Amino acid sequence: MLDMKWIREHADEVQLAADRKGIAVSIGELLVRDEEKRKLKQETDALRERRNRLSGEIGRLMTERRAEEAGPLREEMKDVNGRLAVLEGELREAESIFAALYEQVPNVVSPDTPVGRSDEDNVELKRVGEPPVFDFAARDHLELGELHGLIDVPRGVKTAGSRHYYLRGAGVLLHRAVQQLALDLLMEKGFTPLEVPLMAREEAMAGTAYFPQARDQAYRIEGEDRYLVGTSEVPLIMYYAGEVVEMDQPIRLAAASMCFRSEVGSAGRDVRGLYRVHQFAKVEQVIICRADPELSEALLQEITANAEELLQKLELPYRQVAVCTGDMSQKTYKQYDLETWMPSRGAYGETHSSSNLGDFQARRANIRYRDEDGKLRFCHTLNNTAVASPRILIPLLENHQREDGSIHIPEALRRYMNGMSELRAE
Ligand code: AMP
Repeated sequence: MLDMKWIREHADEVQLAADRKGIAVSIGELLVRDEEKRKLKQETDALRERRNRLSGEIGRLMTERRAEEAGPLREEMKDVNGRLAVLEGELREAESIFAALYEQVPNVVSPDTPVGRSDEDNVELKRVGEPPVFDFAARDHLELGELHGLIDVPRGVKTAGSRHYYLRGAGVLLHRAVQQLALDLLMEKGFTPLEVPLMAREEAMAGTAYFPQARDQAYRIEGEDRYLVGTSEVPLIMYYAGEVVEMDQPIRLAAASMCFRSEVGSAGRDVRGLYRVHQFAKVEQVIICRADPELSEALLQEITANAEELLQKLELPYRQVAVCTGDMSQKTYKQYDLETWMPSRGAYGETHSSSNLGDFQARRANIRYRDEDGKLRFCHTLNNTAVASPRILIPLLENHQREDGSIHIPEALRRYMNGMSELRAE
């Protein structure tokens, strides 16, 4: 959410951001509706004040036993009440029209954000590590999963429908190992781990700006005002919603949680294997900091570097891209993705998404701090994946396979895998 006063002064910039993010909202109309609502509010307030005065006046005349003088005032009161009822109705309607538009308004983007329509226009910044060259017929993660008894998609589908899976045996160990490695790495770097609610109320989903854009991604629990979370960013940010926080140091939070997404709009895309599923685990990093653009930019680099460190510990080749306007979410100010090499795709696939939201999200969630002058200000917020599994199992299994079907386990994971240094096919 952007400040309305700021939007008024930067209407063209906000409209440009909306157009470039592909969000259909007219800032011109928003300003008209804002004006309309403010005018109605003024008129309503003036009438309410008149009503209060009249009621005080009538009360006074009555206690002074001057009831006949109160007659004309009662007449006026009737008229005021009638007009007020109409105006209050109009105000409610104007407020709801305004609110519906306002919630669509996107964050603006950083000056160094590339302009583009889709992920194809993201700009590669660097590559780290070499994709392996196999001189044998390499298997994809499903074939490797079957060979080692790690992944069972048909039974996942039998139980829960498409885009579901079971992990088994060492598949479960790997899935948990990458998460524990990520959590340990973040704790070493001063992140506080939280176990979070996996359901959130409408107010929390909207208050963290997950809604309205991702509303159709969320599973709603029937008959309740609760949704399954699509990311622990929602409960992590909500932890401080409505609070005035200490900002001596940035607040670094982490959670390992399940995430649930309907993936509507992805019909037919990434249907094979573990790339796009309805339920996955993610270790998330969230930072809340002072509203200092230089600081939040430095922290964006920090959380991106954390994810890179994890990929290096997993010995995986990856690249970093600057995400373009058309591939950004409504709330994002600046974003990098990390894409890890996936041999079966013959391409890099997105495994991490690192975002600086400026004060957009904190304004919605109402997270503030006192600056040096004692003035209350909205914080900046950032988030990034530390690891998401089972998607990360795709590059992990595929890049580390050997000709005989065995799979190398990176050194950093072995302590979480009962010391296993490889997976051997039976
Ligand atoms: P996001 O929260 O949308 O930025 O996604 C963060 C990361 O979660 C992605 O980079 C993926 O690694 C993972 N992810 C997102 N959606 C899915 C999905 N439907 N299935 C598997 N992994 C996913």
